[in-house]
Amino acid sequence: MEPHLSVVVPMYDEAEVLPVLVSRLRGVLDSVPGLDGSYEVVAVDDGSRDATPVLLQRYRREWPQLRVLRLRTNAGHQAAISAGLTAARGDWVVTLDADLQDPPEVLAEMLAVAEDRGVDVVYGVRTDRSTDSLFKRQTARAFYAVMRAAGARDLPSGAGDYRLMSRATVNAVNALPETHRVLRLVVPSLGFPSATVGYRREERAAGRSKYPLARMVRLSVDALTGFSLAPLRLATWFGVGGFVAAVLLFGYALVAKWQGHAVAGWTSTVTIVAAVGGVQLLCLGILGEYVGRIYAALQGRPTYYVAYDSLTSSPGQDDAPARAATPPEAAPPAADAPDGPRTTARH
Ligand code: UDP
Ligand code: MG
Repeated sequence: MEPHLSVVVPMYDEAEVLPVLVSRLRGVLDSVPGLDGSYEVVAVDDGSRDATPVLLQRYRREWPQLRVLRLRTNAGHQAAISAGLTAARGDWVVTLDADLQDPPEVLAEMLAVAEDRGVDVVYGVRTDRSTDSLFKRQTARAFYAVMRAAGARDLPSGAGDYRLMSRATVNAVNALPETHRVLRLVVPSLGFPSATVGYRREERAAGRSKYPLARMVRLSVDALTGFSLAPLRLATWFGVGGFVAAVLLFGYALVAKWQGHAVAGWTSTVTIVAAVGGVQLLCLGILGEYVGRIYAALQGRPTYYVAYDSLTSSPGQDDAPARAATPPEAAPPAADAPDGPRTTARH
């Protein structure tokens, strides 16, 4: 029987936090009113290099609802969530970070709100981010402001990747052909009726953040180029501005020549050359981002490869990666190593 609720938890090198996560999440899920154990926890092991896979197998023995989905390589947070969404079977699916920054207790409230109000999506909204660093808060605020200015108007303020989605929503997300999707933007854009539930963002329970600055920048660029043509238009506006400036300068140069005084300086020339060069490089970069996305879309290469799914492996094979039995239409098999485990892959 399909579970009522799936909890997708992406994890990358989270061995330190796993014991706390398992006991707290299990406590919450076992006591959600009316759920009666009809849930699955899809732990997406995003190619961890520490003891995460070993610990997961251990916990699985005593927690029947725990399901382990192992990706072959580190695919990144968003791709790991996508892998979990594709695998999840529940009528409702909630995505949750492993580090307990988003308290699992809120999950029961999300489910209640969704069922009471008849909405498809319930966003967890961080009402208090005082435990995040000032830098993280400021960059997050800038991210939401830029995204809203770029046209993502229905983006709920302060919503991260803690959200509950109905089966219809998850199916709609899974059906999108887009690679490198940023779910916190994609889900609102689908237009399903939604509600929000506020919560306080907590301190990471253990371990270190897996989101260095470079990854945050990547996520923002993916978000912006995946959602808006505004940067491309920006390039056009730079071009128009540059052209107008060039015409004016030409006029000025002619006037200066007629009036007989030589163009004064070197400084202005250098400034102009540098400015024009800078704008051109910026525009090229913007174009490059979009060309890169077109290239990635044309290649159609999956953003993750599933190496193992505990649900479809036969009993006794717990510790050995088994053949994944995802239907072929849902997941075209990736290029297989002849002696390696079968893998399935999706965007
Ligand atoms: N994560 C992942 N793959 C990655 C990086 C992170 O699955 O390549 C997971 C990580 O284990 C955690 C969640 O994504 O459950 C959010 O990461 P983290 O807490 O490090 O980010 P932060 O909260 O610092 O932004
Ligand atoms: Mg975190």
